[in-house]
Amino acid sequence: MTKTVPPAASAKLSAPQRALLKLDLQRDIDLALHLPLRYEDETRIVRLADVRDGEVAQIEATVQACEVKLGPRRQLLVTVDDGSDTCTLRFFTFYPSHQKALAPGARVLVRGEVRGGFMGRTMLHPQFRAATGELPTALTPIYPTTAALPQNYLRRAVLAGLARAELRETLPPGQSPVAWSLRQALEFLHHPTPDVSVEALADRSHPAWQRLKAEELLAQQLSQLTAQRERGRLRAPVLQPRTDGPALHAALLQALPFALTGAQQRVVAEITADLARALPMHRLLQGDVGSGKTVVAALAAAVCMDAGWQCALMAPTEILAEQHFRKLVGWLDPLLAAHGKRIAWLAGGQKKKERDTMLALIASGEAALVVGTHAVIQDKVQFQRLGLAVIDEQHRFGVAQRLALRGKLAAEGQEPHLLMMSATPIPRTLAMSYYADLDVSTIDELPPGRTPVLTRVVHDARRDEVIERIRGQIEEGRQVYWVCPLIEESEALDLANATATHAALADVLPGVLVGLLHSRMAPAEKKAVMSLFTDGLMGLLVSTTVIEVGVDVPNASLMVIEHAERFGLSQLHQLRGRVGRGAAASACVLLFSTGDAPRLGQVARERLKAMVETNDGFEIARRDLEIRGPGEFLGARQSGAALLRFADLSTDAELLAWARALAPVMLDRYPELAERHVHRWLGGKAEFLKA
Ligand code: ADP
Ligand code: MG
Repeated sequence: MTKTVPPAASAKLSAPQRALLKLDLQRDIDLALHLPLRYEDETRIVRLADVRDGEVAQIEATVQACEVKLGPRRQLLVTVDDGSDTCTLRFFTFYPSHQKALAPGARVLVRGEVRGGFMGRTMLHPQFRAATGELPTALTPIYPTTAALPQNYLRRAVLAGLARAELRETLPPGQSPVAWSLRQALEFLHHPTPDVSVEALADRSHPAWQRLKAEELLAQQLSQLTAQRERGRLRAPVLQPRTDGPALHAALLQALPFALTGAQQRVVAEITADLARALPMHRLLQGDVGSGKTVVAALAAAVCMDAGWQCALMAPTEILAEQHFRKLVGWLDPLLAAHGKRIAWLAGGQKKKERDTMLALIASGEAALVVGTHAVIQDKVQFQRLGLAVIDEQHRFGVAQRLALRGKLAAEGQEPHLLMMSATPIPRTLAMSYYADLDVSTIDELPPGRTPVLTRVVHDARRDEVIERIRGQIEEGRQVYWVCPLIEESEALDLANATATHAALADVLPGVLVGLLHSRMAPAEKKAVMSLFTDGLMGLLVSTTVIEVGVDVPNASLMVIEHAERFGLSQLHQLRGRVGRGAAASACVLLFSTGDAPRLGQVARERLKAMVETNDGFEIARRDLEIRGPGEFLGARQSGAALLRFADLSTDAELLAWARALAPVMLDRYPELAERHVHRWLGGKAEFLKA
């Protein structure tokens, strides 16, 4: 989270002060909790003769010569002698102050990497200072910082912050998982004594680190639990399937062309139980791509409408929302018509007249179900009585949008039930920590009759073979997707690339209808292309990543992803999920290119390997977490969660369990300590976590 500093205030601040604000280092405690990335050992002096080449060392030596050498590159060459050997210090950028401090005869401490060489031993741009005979007694901390904030300035600021910070104990008596207090841990981590195990510091297994990680996890658990308890005080409408007449819910189940899977039945039961309570539901429905979440949402909507309340369903893109709309209209419209109700549609590109009609239907309550994009949460949309909001692909929506939806229930003191759906499963440890305030339902079974998608990684040089394969699929009456990547942060360039690919493919596939879909197209145009593909008239659909989510065309059997090395793992998995939706054997081809490099980078290789090795969304999510780490996995911006700085969920499961157990006890028995603890760690961010 970056703070915006008002211009008037920032004008008076120095550059490093502004940088401190930007790093969110405002309060003393924030500075005290800004911990070193690593340390440098300046407590020891070694003999130059004992230093091996390539080693970083600190020596104390006397300057013998100091001269500026002219030539193609001006440089300052300083020869020093520590009695065991000599060494040349070399500076390409230097100031008169260098020459002054390094004048012949000066006694100096020099620290840097020692290199052997033709001209004798050298250090390039070493650190140096006058030797005073005194050495620091602690390791020197190196803090994470930015260019505008010099290490020395930050070090002084942190020291001052640490000295002033209020560090009274917030853990209840006898509850610390380690013997160290917060103050001891902080003082130690900012200035560890040189005898400490460097490994224990580096891998953060040292008790001082344990204490900090425990505190951080506790703060997070406390704020989540507080949010959960606050929600527990809110009220929501009790939504129960009606028993006094024909129920939509039952009628829909009857009308479906398939039977629900066991997993679908289970999650429907979980959701229905939530809806029947006067507490607002806050549930995440997770299930792999193609696992059949939409019908579960439709059944939840049916329960809501049965009870006489309105339901809203929101999807991140117009294509996806449109597809939901069509599906829900197909399933529900005939049933709703019997009750004089209908389904409304809201999207950004809508004509004003149509929109006004929809708004009126929603306000009067005649629209029992409202489907659309972000347009659903705009201020103008007034529900008569919103009982349930469903958000598809919830990770695409921000916290503010979720809050806005919850605010749509006019009745005082009540909130609508909230069902969020996601095809990107949250690994268990993450669910326990970031989403403690969320109930989770999981569809862990695909509908019967699906064949697993075969995935192949293919070098771009073999593009021709891939095109042959496309031709083969289309001749068999199948359909194919070709996804073009994001090349850079420029929509125009991505578009140019997709357009060129489209033209080239149309050229080599005469007689095949090749379509193009990208985000800049007008909604009507997109709709036209999409329906040609959905209706099976279009053999090949070239698109940018706009089809990433939700598109459902069971006849599509081949997915080609160009420059697959540029996509994230979960995005690749989502894209692959567009095929293998029917009974036909399906495949996914990951085309990659290494550009000018001899081979792919490590991370890209791991991602593609994971794609070949597994089709299981949960396994993909687990590997994604492993490759990227939880911070990136969640995306701070999207989740709004204050990410963990110190704890690592993959290694600190025990501390997490400790924090989970302690949080409720603290809230019940030590509310004042709990409040101080959360304030210390999260400051103003605690509010944000509640969404
Ligand atoms: P997702 O979970 O990715 O949103 P969808 O809801 O789009 O998946 O469902 C994928 C496809 O599976 C759709 O065509 C849907 O109608 C179909 N489907 C859902 N449930 C079942 C089921 N129990 N049996 C057969 N097909 C199903
Ligand atoms: Mg879906």
